[in-house]
Amino acid sequence: VLHPEKCRAAVVVEFGARMQILPVKVPFALEQGAILTRNLLATVCATDVHLLANALPPGYMGEPPLVLGHEVVGQVAEMNGIDTDAVGQDLHVGDRVVWTHGYCGRCRYCVLDHMPSLCANRRSSMAGQKDEFPFLGGGFAEYGYVFPTGGAIRVPEEISDSVASAASCAMQTVVHAYERSGGVDEGTVVVVQGAGPLGLFSVARYVAAGAKVIVVGGPAQRLELARAWGAEKVLDIDDMPSPSERVAWVMDMTGGRGGDIVVEASGVPAAFAEGMEMVAEGGRYVVVGQGHNVDVKFNPSMLNVRNIMITGVRAAAPHHTWRALEFLRRHRATFNWEKMITSTQGLDHINEAFERMDTWDEIKPAIKLLERA
Ligand SMILES: [Zn+2]
Ligand SMILES: [Zn+2]
Repeated sequence: VLHPEKCRAAVVVEFGARMQILPVKVPFALEQGAILTRNLLATVCATDVHLLANALPPGYMGEPPLVLGHEVVGQVAEMNGIDTDAVGQDLHVGDRVVWTHGYCGRCRYCVLDHMPSLCANRRSSMAGQKDEFPFLGGGFAEYGYVFPTGGAIRVPEEISDSVASAASCAMQTVVHAYERSGGVDEGTVVVVQGAGPLGLFSVARYVAAGAKVIVVGGPAQRLELARAWGAEKVLDIDDMPSPSERVAWVMDMTGGRGGDIVVEASGVPAAFAEGMEMVAEGGRYVVVGQGHNVDVKFNPSMLNVRNIMITGVRAAAPHHTWRALEFLRRHRATFNWEKMITSTQGLDHINEAFERMDTWDEIKPAIKLLERA
């Protein structure tokens, strides 16, 4: 077997401290159905930044020392006992794949509810410590370990490493949210709160479906991209800091109705109460960006008085990953996906990339790992 005993990885040695580039073991014995990858590139998700700061509720990750990163594309280096990906497509050594957490396929969430992202026996990729098998829990490492049911999906040749990587969290979650938000047609008005990766991919998804899309977010660079991807109206929250004025603006832009669908993709807890006011009578509210474990006040009577449905999504299942990649492939002539990736640098610069993500100076930084073999 031709892979090194150790590879370089960005290791979280302590929450809130800078990650350190350290050697981490590469597993030699793979479980039945598992894949070892040579990682080409990983992108930074806002969740990674919050995880490093230990700002999310418990359950997302383990204790340091561990490796973060859950948006990554790798080449198959080795597979144990399989020759297809999670949706039955042929898979060979050298093919590029993206993947997700491991799910069991034998619990009520996996089988009865068709929601494997809630799997009772979930093997979370960022939960393992760097000194315990399979060592390479996260994507910010030169090699990766895909759990036997980690939902590996082959990446179509037309999709670049960076765009494929962004599909493996942000876009697949948007595909999941889109599915949960119900039907969309030419008359549907969609309000997207937030203009980060989730918000921007949401713009593209609903525009492609024929909806009229309005964005409330910032900063200006992101709103420009939202416009380029087809948002009809954008509101920079810096230009209108008052939530009630923003609600009035949305009402103004929608003939007094609000959004048939409102997508919460900002991750700001207070945005939930604000977004509720933006939902049209009979409309739907999809919460996709939250994760801060903070309470907010809102008036529940508006749910039944206005016949509103609220739903939330946690991550995504392999069929969403496949559809995310297929969406990106099919619509690549309409949307310049590369615009989402605001920088590409080596693993040694990962801490700076996290800092610029945190200050909103970047939409999505990419971390280059190994050269394609
Ligand atoms: Zn993520
Ligand atoms: Zn399960």
